[in-house]
Amino acid sequence: MRATGSPDWTPEVDLPWAGIPDQLRARGLRWTPQRRILVEVLSQSDGHVTGAELVDRCKALDPDTIPSTVYRTLDVLEELGVVRHSHGADGREEFHVLPAVEHAHLYCRVCGGAWELAGDDPVVVTAVDAVLAGQGFSIDVPHLTLTGVCATCRANEGDA
Ligand SMILES: [Zn+2]
Ligand SMILES: [Zn+2]
Ligand SMILES: [Zn+2]
Repeated sequence: MRATGSPDWTPEVDLPWAGIPDQLRARGLRWTPQRRILVEVLSQSDGHVTGAELVDRCKALDPDTIPSTVYRTLDVLEELGVVRHSHGADGREEFHVLPAVEHAHLYCRVCGGAWELAGDDPVVVTAVDAVLAGQGFSIDVPHLTLTGVCATCRANEGDA
């Protein structure tokens, strides 16, 4: 497990940002200043970032930023495979810029701590395989968020 946003999180260096304008145009979307600003903000983002944070960062560069445009563009960028989203404990979307390691998320509802579980972690592999074998259901690991109580908080509960 790694702490969310830990310094060892490194984005892919070879980001396909250059091809994005053409990919948007191929979907009938114009390469507007607002979309360019969002891509610029994303290229400088690390780890997990909420939609609201992205809107704020875009607004810092362009006060006329329209949040719905940001969210619609994020949807398209996810279809293009540039970003992925998961959900925090409160259900809000968190975006990842091309996560170097596919991972699931653990949230502690007591202390609010967050951790990542790598997609090739034996715990994840075992759980994914078990659900696939039992239900024929294939789990979307990067979208997987588990809430519960972390080891530290469980130990503290035991002391109480
Ligand atoms: Zn979702
Ligand atoms: Zn994540
Ligand atoms: Zn905790």
